[in-house]
Amino acid sequence: MAAPDGLPPLREVIATHGIAARKALGQNFLLDLNLTAKIARAAGDLGAADVLEVGPGPGGLTRGLLAEGARRVLAIEKDPRCLPALAEIAAAYPDRLEVMNADALDVDARAHLTPPIRVVANLPYNVGTELLVRWLTPPDWPPYWQSLTLMFQKEVAERIVALPGQKAYGRLALLAQWRTDARIVMTLPPEAFTPAPKVRSAVVHLTALPAPRFPADPATLNRIVAAGFNQRRKMLRSSLKGIAPGIEARLEAVGIAPTARAEEIGLEAYCRLARALDGG
Ligand code: SAM
Repeated sequence: MAAPDGLPPLREVIATHGIAARKALGQNFLLDLNLTAKIARAAGDLGAADVLEVGPGPGGLTRGLLAEGARRVLAIEKDPRCLPALAEIAAAYPDRLEVMNADALDVDARAHLTPPIRVVANLPYNVGTELLVRWLTPPDWPPYWQSLTLMFQKEVAERIVALPGQKAYGRLALLAQWRTDARIVMTLPPEAFTPAPKVRSAVVHLTALPAPRFPADPATLNRIVAAGFNQRRKMLRSSLKGIAPGIEARLEAVGIAPTARAEEIGLEAYCRLARALDGG
């Protein structure tokens, strides 16, 4: 049966174009168009937005984004085998889909998009965290994008939204929560994908805050958090020793117990310490 967009079902698309999933490219495809439409809706109002999609593959999520009314989609796909299938979608939605055959790590997508911009992707697992960190650490804030709606392995999604004291709490949580609102909006079993991966997955929706939640210099904050979590079992007076002279007194001065461990300290306290070290 044809899908509502008049295009063939995804299983047929994959068979016609010979797009057998390749593990090296992190290919686990979503073939249920109801599910991809649901992910597209989780991204918020698409009608007024340009959407950047990384790794469209055979185009299930791309079709969801277009059917849900995205103004324009820029889809960056590394695997040339997917291009004919994506060209069919572009023909069904004239002037609304641009496909780029490239490695997303090499492309400055901003130059090809008009604000407001939303990023939506079922990310290849091998580059997902790298792309997220890049989106979260631009030279200036607010970033070029308004929101990120991203599929990750559930374990990575949990690291993004984790709170102090939780096992998953670490650099990724602090990085994400400093400048965005981050929520898990959906969890998916392995069977939702073809082929099924070994682990569960989750969609995280991150909305860019107009300004960081608490003031701090990004480089200083990053140095502190990196040093703290590189030795997460150690007390801060020891893990942060190399950061600044007299760290024990400095920690005490901003109300952090020098005997605490990195995983016990919240975002606001890290920002307070960063400001104090910068003389603020
Ligand atoms: N969006 C599709 C879906 O939901 O069915 C495919 C998702 S699959 C998890 C990841 C896709 O990213 C694959 O199509 C893969 O070829 C592509 N990909 C892998 N590495 C990439 C990279 N560095 N740049 C762009 N695309 C990449």
